[in-house]
Amino acid sequence: MSDIQLVDAPAGVEGAGFFATSLDKAIGIARSNSLWPLPFATSCCGIEFMATMASHYDLSRFGAERLSFSPRQADLLMVMGTISKKMAPVLRQVYLQMAEPRWVIAVGACASSGGIFDTYSVLQGIDEVIPVDVYVPGCPPRPEAIIDGFMNIQELVKTETLRRRSEPKYQALLAKYGIQ
Ligand code: SF4
Repeated sequence: MSDIQLVDAPAGVEGAGFFATSLDKAIGIARSNSLWPLPFATSCCGIEFMATMASHYDLSRFGAERLSFSPRQADLLMVMGTISKKMAPVLRQVYLQMAEPRWVIAVGACASSGGIFDTYSVLQGIDEVIPVDVYVPGCPPRPEAIIDGFMNIQELVKTETLRRRSEPKYQALLAKYGIQ
């Protein structure tokens, strides 16, 4: 017979506990102010992103001046521009190469819905191949709108638990896209 005895958790330690509350919040604040975006820019919306990064709008005020052109070192995928169906597998591969936690913004009408390019060769929204967290409307969206979308991601990052990856809701979303 085993000597090990299971004991009940002391009062006040049940439930989510320290990790899911205070530490979650602290890390959420740190993460949201140090996002590393990967700009996946294929056309005109990318030009607005350049303006967003430049000194007048200055995305570095939000801690996001460090752009990453390697998916391994990025946690925010910003998709800007028309995505052709030939480009779709590349976009999905880039997304898959990003480590968790990762977030996605669809910037502009083309990335969100295909925009004016309602044609056989253009993806009618990147959410056909990868999950999207925030959509930014406009053709093109002004830098203010891109910043607004970025701030929405910050709010999401701040409020999400560290264990997002193992949450049933997130698991179900990934499963919908055939991602393990
Ligand atoms: Fe260009 Fe408009 Fe499409 Fe942006 S949404 S990539 S500005 S056509």
